[in-house]
Amino acid sequence: MEMQKKDIRALSKEQLRDFFVANGDKAFRGNQVYEWLWGKGAHSFEDMSNVSKATREMLESNFVINHIKVDQMQRSEDGTVKNAVRLHDGLVVESVLIPTETRTTACVSSQVGCSLDCNFCATARLKRMRNLAPDEIYDQVVAIDKESRLYYNHPLSNIVFMGMGEPLMNYNNVLKAIEMITSPEGLGMSPKRITVSTSGVPKMIKKLADDEVKFKLAVSLHSAIDDTRSRIMPFSANFPLSELRESLEYWYAKTKSRVTYEYVVWKDINDDKASIDALVRFCKYVPCKVNLIEYNPIDDGEFQQASDESINAYIRALEAHDIVAKVRRSRGKDIDAACGQLANKS
Ligand code: SAH
Repeated sequence: MEMQKKDIRALSKEQLRDFFVANGDKAFRGNQVYEWLWGKGAHSFEDMSNVSKATREMLESNFVINHIKVDQMQRSEDGTVKNAVRLHDGLVVESVLIPTETRTTACVSSQVGCSLDCNFCATARLKRMRNLAPDEIYDQVVAIDKESRLYYNHPLSNIVFMGMGEPLMNYNNVLKAIEMITSPEGLGMSPKRITVSTSGVPKMIKKLADDEVKFKLAVSLHSAIDDTRSRIMPFSANFPLSELRESLEYWYAKTKSRVTYEYVVWKDINDDKASIDALVRFCKYVPCKVNLIEYNPIDDGEFQQASDESINAYIRALEAHDIVAKVRRSRGKDIDAACGQLANKS
């Protein structure tokens, strides 16, 4: 039986240098190949034109390059682009390019399916199939960057980890991917332009703070009342809001970076005064801003977008307490590219 070849991008630069030395070549060859793999985004060993044929063949017999393939690209009437991305083992994830007047944002996936069970999210219904590798996350960004240049004439300006999956349940790979995205050897993007969104896993939020990450943090809050929150996001029964609060205070103390809360207002779920008051109280714990997201129905009667009146009541209450609140309109709804709609439908 043929041995399963290893994904060459699972190797660090050091490991690649060591590999060449162990095979009687110069460590420098490792740098060269590393640059092809990341900076130049080579899809095959053949592409590596300044590497000898013998070396390329040697690499070929030891490794594979598990490059993603954009299987299908859909473009929304509002300019949003959705990629269905095929992975080396045939599984599919989705990533989205969201253009505005001033910037383009990539929304990328971190898992195939999702570890969590939010009742209002289409991705949750897929269950978690596996974590994405760092190179699979990186490749999604590269693909969106190309599309940004092609359709909007400028490089990608921002990245949000708000696609499929819970980034903090794939912690190491997400951090490795961000390391390459921000490294001058990769895409050289500023970490200030990257936001990782979590449903709120307190232990991992603290770990982010301990690891002194430089990117931004968003938390999908949706309710600041334990009973309500654990009804709509059942996993959160294990992580009461008091623990979430504590982890966010820890995060802020270490990073001094303001947190964004994502919040959908639903009819008869969190459109009452008690919910508004609870959110205002929660927002006092650490400096933050609130993004009120429009609900994208996922053929489920339980959840309905609240009235404009209720959303305005939220904004009034938050602003009265000097908390920045913005309403986020949905983008790419017509191609199932909006928040919570990523479910590999096509
Ligand atoms: N698991 C992470 C990353 C996914 S981000 C997290 O939850 O933060 C996707 C965002 O879309 C989250 O804020 C999520 O709560 C929100 N969302 C999920 N389903 C939605 C829907 N049907 N309509 C609007 N927003 C939704």
